[in-house]
Order: sequence, then structure tokens, then C-alpha cells
Amino acid sequence: PPGLYVVATPIGNLGDISLRALQTLAAADAVLAEDTRVTRTLLAHYGITTPLVSYHEHSNDAVRERMILRIREGQALALVSDAGTPLVSDPGYRLVEAAIAEGLRVVPLPGASAALAALVVSGLPTDRFFFEGFLPAKSGARRTRLAELASIPGTLVLYEAPHRLAESLADAAAVLGPRNAAVARELTKLYETVRRGALTDLAEAYAAEPQPKGEIVLLIAPATAATREAETRATVDGKLRDALRQ
Ligand code: SAM
Repeated sequence: PPGLYVVATPIGNLGDISLRALQTLAAADAVLAEDTRVTRTLLAHYGITTPLVSYHEHSNDAVRERMILRIREGQALALVSDAGTPLVSDPGYRLVEAAIAEGLRVVPLPGASAALAALVVSGLPTDRFFFEGFLPAKSGARRTRLAELASIPGTLVLYEAPHRLAESLADAAAVLGPRNAAVARELTKLYETVRRGALTDLAEAYAAEPQPKGEIVLLIAPATAATREAETRATVDGKLRDALRQ
């Protein structure tokens, strides 16, 4: 049936795709892909020959209108991203919004997402969590954002680029203190690793090591009474240091 199908694809291991997702991709009139080369490889692996159309973060209203028109005309369009679940730190939100505004059917095909995969092996509380996605690239803005996140009563889930991990850990340790944390790397892939420990220890360890390779999720536990006290102390020390510097 016509509609916009939001299809999750694997985050590494090609086996992590549902039977229904494969059927939907095969039956769709077109697959809207962030990077058509990446998606072509996935489809080829499963012998799927559905035509690919490029849809990425720079796609404009005109592109979206064309997609909406195709669905109106009775087509089934499947939206995928390079890896994991579309719309989660990936393009698609504006297209889903437009489809809903037009009264079209939007159907989820759930599957892999690095955020949940990392959360469940982090060893950190899973009853409540907050998905932040990527932190700002610059240290000042990053610390400001971390300070805003400090009082959230759940595990923080952050996506991070390998070349920024060490500095983000340092900023997080400075702002949030010695909370429990985990670095989940290359999930479902050959070099899958999860490192767990105090944020301050992880920051120290990664500062002393060569830059890690691959894809990374950083998870930080909510504050406890003990870490809250250390956080206040860190903030006061930081403010004092800044004041003395001026
Ligand atoms: N939509 C995707 C999802 O649902 O997970 C996320 C897309 S975002 C552009 C890419 C980021 O997700 C990476 O920089 C990394 O932080 C995280 N990521 C994706 N695959 C991963 C993996 N296999 N292991 C760890 N982190 C991963």
C-alpha cells in the first residue's frame, strides 16, 4: 500500500535487518537513501533491485514535494539512512513531518539503532535515558550543553566522532565529575568493545592513548549524591580557576 516506510538498516552486522524490512525494501517503488552507494551495497547483498533515489540532509522542499506527490499517486517509498534508524541523528524528520501534514501513511520498520544497542550493554541505568546525539564541536559550547544536561535524571546517550572523543570526555569529566560512564565502539562489528569506568578515569585513559578508530557511543550515568557533591566542587574549582585567570 502507498505510504512512507521508515526502514531501519544494520549498524554494522548485515544480519541485523528484519524480514519485514527486506520485504518492504524489495516491494517499494523506490528507496530514498542518504548515500545511494552505501544503500546499493546493502540491497545488493540481499538481491534487492528497487530503484534508489537520493535523499539527504541538504534535500530541499522541492525534493520533498516530489516524494509526497509520488506517494499521493499511490507509490510506496522506503526511507533508509546509511546505518541504523532514519531520523535518529540522520535525515528524514522533515519528510515525515511533510507526509503527516498531507495525511499520508507513515509506517515504521523498527530495527538497529546505535543508541539502544549501546545503552543495553553499557551497564548504566536503562530505566530512564536521554538521547542527546552529537555534542557541539567546540569546547565552550560543548561544556555549556553538558552543564544543561547535568540535572537530567537518566543515562545520557551521546554520539561522538573518534577524533573528538578524548576532548569530549575531558569536558564531560570537568563538568559532570566522576560519574559512571561507558564508551561503546564498533557495535555489532569485528572490533566491538565497551569500556566502562568513572568518567574522570576514562577521560584520563583516552587522553593518554592514540585516537580510537571507528564509531562511538558515549554513555554517562545520571548524578548520584556522591557525584553531585564532586560536581559542585569541580564547578566551584573551575569558576575559581577562571576568576583567577582573569
Ligand atoms: N541513525 C543512526 C542510528 O540509528 O544509530 C545514527 C547515525 S549517526 C550519523 C552516526 C553515529 O552513530 C556514529 O558517529 C556513532 O556515534 C553512532 N554509531 C553508528 N553505528 C555505530 C556502531 N556500530 N557502534 C557504535 N556507534 C555507532
